[in-house]
Order: sequence, then C-alpha cells, then structure tokens
Amino acid sequence: MPLSLYDTLSREKIPFIPYDSKRVTLYVCGPTVYNPAHVGNARPYVVFDVLYRLLRRDYGPENVIYARNITDVDDKINKKAADEGVPISVITERYADIFHQDMDSLAILRPSIEPRVTASMTAIISQIKALIANGHAYVGEDHVLFDVNTYNDYGALSRRSLDDMIAGARVEVAPYKKNPQDFVLWKPSKLHEPFWPSPWGNGRPGWHIECSAMIEANLGFPIDIHAGGHDLIFPHHENEIAQGVCAHDHKASPQAYARHWMHNGFLTMNSEKMSKSIGNVHLVHELTKTLHPEIIRLSLLSASYRAPLDWTSSLLDQSRARLDGLYGALRRYKRLNSEGTNTIFSVPQSIQDALEDDLNTPMALAELGRFAQSLETAKTDQDRRDAYEALRGGAEALGLLNHHPDDWFGYGLNQKQRQEIDQMVSDRLEARKSKNWTEADRLRDLLSSRQIELMDRPDGCDWKVKYESL
Ligand code: AMP
Ligand code: ZN
Repeated sequence: MPLSLYDTLSREKIPFIPYDSKRVTLYVCGPTVYNPAHVGNARPYVVFDVLYRLLRRDYGPENVIYARNITDVDDKINKKAADEGVPISVITERYADIFHQDMDSLAILRPSIEPRVTASMTAIISQIKALIANGHAYVGEDHVLFDVNTYNDYGALSRRSLDDMIAGARVEVAPYKKNPQDFVLWKPSKLHEPFWPSPWGNGRPGWHIECSAMIEANLGFPIDIHAGGHDLIFPHHENEIAQGVCAHDHKASPQAYARHWMHNGFLTMNSEKMSKSIGNVHLVHELTKTLHPEIIRLSLLSASYRAPLDWTSSLLDQSRARLDGLYGALRRYKRLNSEGTNTIFSVPQSIQDALEDDLNTPMALAELGRFAQSLETAKTDQDRRDAYEALRGGAEALGLLNHHPDDWFGYGLNQKQRQEIDQMVSDRLEARKSKNWTEADRLRDLLSSRQIELMDRPDGCDWKVKYESL
C-alpha cells in the first residue's frame, strides 16, 4: 500500500509523493529549552518518530533528512537565566541535555540535523532582508514586521480570513505596526538581554522566522513534510508559510513551502490540554523514574495521532498489561531459542499497511498483539519462528520491545537482586519436585514479600515485579 497522509492544508488524506525520492525532507518544530518536556510535548516527537522510521524503510535511511530544531533564544529563557544570574547558555545547555536524555529514553531516534537558533542568525537575517526587499516586511521603531496584507494566501492553513483574525484577535496592538495582525520578524533586545547585531540594530529574531530560516538553510524549499502539535497551526505555521513563500516567490502557492502538513492532537487530562500554563503536566523526566519508558511510548501511540488522547491511570495500566503480553511471549521464546546479535527483522506487511495508512498506530499495535498470541500458540517450529520475527520486526517499526524481557519484568531491580530471585524461584521449583511443600510455600511467601509475582507454567515458572495500579 503506498503511503498516504492526512494533510492539514488540503484537509484530506493524500498520497505521499516526495519531491525527490533520494532526498526526502521532514521538519518537526522542536522544543524551547527552558524547562523539562512533559508527556504532551513528547507526543509529537514519538508520533513523528514512527513516521521517520517508516520513511527510512520506504526510501532508505540515507535518503531521509529529518531536522528538528532547538529554540535556544526566547523570553522565557532570558527570564530563567536572569533569575538564576547565569548566561542563557547555562539554561539552554541544561535543558537541551535533559531533552536528549528524555527522548533517548523514549527510544526516539535522533534527527539527522538539530539546528539551533543561536547558530542560525545569518540565515535568519538573510531571510528577513529578502522579505523587506520583496515588499513583505517593514521596519518600525527598531522592529521588523511582516505585513500580512501583502500576502493573499495568509490564513490558508488555518482557514481563517484576516477579518476573522481581527475579530478574535488577542494580538499585540503596537504603534509600530501597520496592522494588528502583522507579526514580529526581529525585535530590539532590552538592556541586559542577549542580543545579536543586525541591520536593524542589536536584537533578536521573532519565533516564527526561526523555523522558516532554519528550514531554508538546512533543508531548502520546498520540504516534503512539516509537522508539529495542533496548537502550532496558527499562528506559528501560518506565519512560517507566509515568510517562506514571500521570501522567494510570493505568487507561489502555500505548498511551495511544505507539501504535507501534519499535526498531532493534544494529550489531555480530564479533557483539558496538558500544558504548563494550566499546571496539569507530568514531566517525562519524573515519570521515567518509576515508570518504564516503553509504557509512556506505547500509551502515546495507542490512539490515532490526530485524535486527542486522555492521560489516565487506566491508559497506563492497559499499556503495561499489553507490554507484559508482548514481553512474556518474547521471554518464553528466548528461553528456548537463540538469535544472532545483529539480526534484522523485516516489518510484517499488515503492520506496514497500517502505518502507510496515515500512521494507524492503534491498528499496528493490535497486529503486534496478534503476533505475540501466535507466538504463544504456534504448533510448529516454523510457525513459532515466523511469529517471533513478525513480532520483532513490527515492534521495531513502532520503536517498542527495545529491552531484554528480563529487564522489563525485573524493572527497578539490579543484576544482583534479579539473580537472587532467579535462585529462589529455581529452589522453589526443586522443592516442589521433591514434594517439599513447606519449603516451596516458604519461598513463595518470601518472594511475595519482596513484591515478586510468580506465574507457574507446565515447563517452569515465570516471575515479574508486582505493581500497583497507577
Ligand atoms: P512547546 O515546547 O510548548 O513548543 O511544545 C513542543 C511540541 O509539543 C509542539 O509541537 C507542541 O505543539 C506540542 N505540544 C504541546 N503540548 C501538547 C499536548 N498537550 N499534547 C500534544 N502536543 C503538545
Ligand atoms: Zn517551528
């Protein structure tokens, strides 16, 4: 099945046809690094990681360029640096490091390029110059503003007219603006704020110009896919299109900037968007101290990426139970079979088909569960091998089952503790074999007091760390 993706600009699912199949380009708006990411922030990075993996399979890893920026210039960064009395680089390095650790723990592949705003000033300034030269931007009181009245397609992505925008506007009305909807491309820095020299004075770029300039510098125009969370459609992505198109050929269609626009739905709590301003956030960094990161990853993939997803304890319980099933099948298989360390498994067709259909991850996860079932019930060695390979290949497409089953079932225990438990479990089996029921019961009770749950099987006994509902 050829890949088709829902496109926010045309509001329909359309076949994905890259401009150049030897250079497929993907851009996802990255984090502003002044605090740790919450699970809502992680949703786009997990979802579009599945897309990145799919594109790499379809076009070859060397032919896909994925850029995800780091915004390291921002008012909130300035404030935090001023509060702590340190240069902004101390703040941005700290939170960029935490971001990388968090994304790595969620098995999100690193992008091919990770441009930073502080290292992209030349590209930003040159795009602003082009906008002024083309008559789409003007200077007012040391600010440079984009003149929205000069771009006919302004509003095409969010399907808003300028009149609607004015009616519902919460934009800053400022004396240096011709129109309240005009947005900042460059602004002067206040005293003690970091600044960069420019033809318009010492200052810093607006948020939207960063992305269009980093795209032009790193990927060129047009790109194949531009993605991010739903809240970025307006104004961020609308403004990016205006800048990107008008810096080059203002008669071009909005597609001359990006061919496909993808937006993930919100992660919510009690139907409210998870967000710092509401104060209902769960940080990835905190959660992973007690929760296996794959539970988070699977949870984020359990709904269609476009739909809202409510973050609840029952979602986490279900994800944990699903992973127990998948890892349980792997554990029993591995006990009897070995595999080379570098084995590469191909992705089963049914999972590939589900993902090619606008990243249908719920369907792909259901298929993964089916392969784990087949692995449990297979009658022949060949069937067992096939089911095992399908499970591993499908899991790779979704970025799951990255750990040894023993690490999954013994999460939170160190090597020595696991060995002790293995020993007690095998002593208990011995005791049962010699009908020493008192000793077998004693060991079971001892294990239970250490939060170990036993699952007796005809061919042995499995164990896992017990958990409370979350
Ligand atoms: P931010 O650092 O706030 O710009 O967010 C980084 C990314 O996370 C952006 O693509 C946002 O659209 C996205 N995002 C923020 N909050 C949520 C949420 N609750 N659910 C899903 N995506 C979100
Ligand atoms: Zn962006």
